[in-house]
Amino acid sequence: MAADEFDAIVVGAGPGGTAAALTMARAGLSVVLFERGARPGLKNVMGGVMYGRMLADVVGEGWREAPIERVVTDERLWLATADAVTTIGHTHVPPAAGPPNAFTVLRVPFDGWFAAQAEAAGALLVPGTTVEDVIREDGRIVGVRTGRADGDLRAPLVVIADGANSFLVQKAGLGRPLQPHEMALVVKEIIALPSGVIEDRFTLEPGRGATIEVYGAPTRGMAGYGFVYTNRESLSVGIGALVSHFMKTRITPWDLLEGFKAHPMVAPLLRGGEVREYLGHAIPEGGRRAMPRLYDHGVLVVGDAAMMVNNLHREGSNLAMAAGRMAGETAVHAKKVGDWSAETLAMYQDLLEASFVLQDLRKYERLPDLVERRPDLLQVYPALLSEAIHEMLTVDGVSKREKQRRILRRLLARRPWWRILRDAYEGWRAMR
Ligand SMILES: Cc1cc2nc3c(=O)[nH]c(=O)nc-3n(C[C@H](O)[C@H](O)[C@H](O)COP(=O)(O)OP(=O)(O)OC[C@H]3O[C@@H](n4cnc5c(N)ncnc54)[C@H](O)[C@@H]3O)c2cc1C
Repeated sequence: MAADEFDAIVVGAGPGGTAAALTMARAGLSVVLFERGARPGLKNVMGGVMYGRMLADVVGEGWREAPIERVVTDERLWLATADAVTTIGHTHVPPAAGPPNAFTVLRVPFDGWFAAQAEAAGALLVPGTTVEDVIREDGRIVGVRTGRADGDLRAPLVVIADGANSFLVQKAGLGRPLQPHEMALVVKEIIALPSGVIEDRFTLEPGRGATIEVYGAPTRGMAGYGFVYTNRESLSVGIGALVSHFMKTRITPWDLLEGFKAHPMVAPLLRGGEVREYLGHAIPEGGRRAMPRLYDHGVLVVGDAAMMVNNLHREGSNLAMAAGRMAGETAVHAKKVGDWSAETLAMYQDLLEASFVLQDLRKYERLPDLVERRPDLLQVYPALLSEAIHEMLTVDGVSKREKQRRILRRLLARRPWWRILRDAYEGWRAMR
């Protein structure tokens, strides 16, 4: 490839990189999109919920053609003990027009389709190619070194979108390796079931989908959660926790997943299903305080590589897509003014600051520290709530007033009032 043949090089054809490449290509910039997998999506793992608004912001009406598994209309949060769950849920009818709020996907078809949109807009997708380093000259990033024989490629902009624990961020001098408490490890299975069985078990209209997130006992004292998401003819079932907690407890991810699948409320949902795939992946969870620098001369960082994950709300793909679009818009401006310096590329940071991406990450910037220090909060309170509800629902001749006293006694026996107040304060402070 000739020197400076392209305006921009994007590394990684996930939601972030592809959104950046597509935005630039549509505006007429010449873009190359490197993906280490033989096909986009092949190396990628995700629980599987994506968001319509951010997709439509990138592809416009093209969202209608996206390979959606199911439109999510039923979202449930389970607070679980070993043998019970307390459910908080929300069910709605999907909008008659416009993109759905949320939908499930499988990454191989979705990433392939999304990258094809970038190609159709004029981006050059180069799969099966790992970017091994950035090329730096006079303090600027001026290209990348790939694993190919004719390996170096130069461009005035490199967009780093290579996902969790990005080594290119480190090579570019923008950040450090993630620490074990800044990263979760998640394992997941795709379990095949007929669509009718899924709709019966989750009480769904045809084509509609459900998500269940499970906090409490299944993570066995570690900070994390389990999930069950419905696809058209399969379920995505997974569980994860902070790497630092796996190291401390020595529980293996495989054991954790087996225990989750055997939970008395989870097992009936999976019964008769056939495991088609077993996958594991990291999620960057250090939050805003652990983010790398997002731009410099000739470089922008997008998505998981930039720690853009809001795990409390199960959001990552949408932050990556929105940031990818903003990186693309920044590049279009830089091309127009003919300046790819950090001063011009700072526009990317400004766009992010003005958007939900950095505003949400700032809102929760204390949360990762609380989650690492106090995994007990995710065990004790779901259990107390479950026991309290169970007590009130048990019809055994004991008066309701006496039941209230019992609940309070049980609560204070396990947690003195001042600790409850402190926990509530810490929780509020981390999420306000
Ligand atoms: C188990 C799990 C469940 C999740 N569930 C959800 C969910 O339900 N909803 C949600 O919104 N988010 C979820 N997330 C998070 C979401 O997957 C990520 O936030 C999102 O994929 C980030 O997009 P990205 O483009 O930044 O990175 P990625 O999707 O990781 O894409 C990075 C791409 O770069 C490629 N690559 C890496 N290194 C190189 C290299 N050196 N050269 C070339 N190519 C390279 C990779 O192969 C990959 O295709 C989940 C994550 C996991 C692990």
